[in-house]
Amino acid sequence: MNRRSSVVLEEEKEKNEARDNSIKKNTKPHTAFRRSHHQGTSYLKRIITKDENDKCRFNCLACFEKFKKGHTGYCENLKVHLQHKQHGKTLLTDDLKKENIEAIKHLERVQQEDPSKIIEEIEEEKYDESATITTKIESQLVLNEASFEFEIVRFLITQNLPFSLGTSLLQFIQRMANKFGNETLNNAHIYDKKITFIAAKECVAKEIQFF
Ligand SMILES: [Zn+2]
Repeated sequence: MNRRSSVVLEEEKEKNEARDNSIKKNTKPHTAFRRSHHQGTSYLKRIITKDENDKCRFNCLACFEKFKKGHTGYCENLKVHLQHKQHGKTLLTDDLKKENIEAIKHLERVQQEDPSKIIEEIEEEKYDESATITTKIESQLVLNEASFEFEIVRFLITQNLPFSLGTSLLQFIQRMANKFGNETLNNAHIYDKKITFIAAKECVAKEIQFF
């Protein structure tokens, strides 16, 4: 490569970098999904949902059902989506067309909303999200309890033990878990010879009386 072409290449590189930087500077952060904005009319509530994987994106159920494509976008582009030709094809009745126009007007209106209101609502949505997480944890706990109870029943059946033993068995497991903790329970070993040895000791018989 001669000197001249290397200078030209260098200039080209600088120009590209300057353009990339200016794009970066002009890139605004995306708008987060907000119910009062993006689901603020009954029509929007019916067809628009928040993208579960990206809090700044929406899904349009009307477009998804009809086209299976072009149904998601960044929240700040929702108005453009509602004005788009594809979305227009989902408006099969005059009522839907009217509702769509109302939704566009609503989005224009909320764009100039008081910023303090927005902060309040974001806080409220954060609270809702933490409530959802709590509900999920609670449901998981209920599921765990059910699985644990199932394991007890399975143990009774596979060991040919009477069902009447269930309550005592559960109480015994709970008492042991509380008294010794997980680590001790996990590290314990028991086998026939050891059982015979322990049972032979008088102290076991005495201990049993206290249960
Ligand atoms: Zn749509």
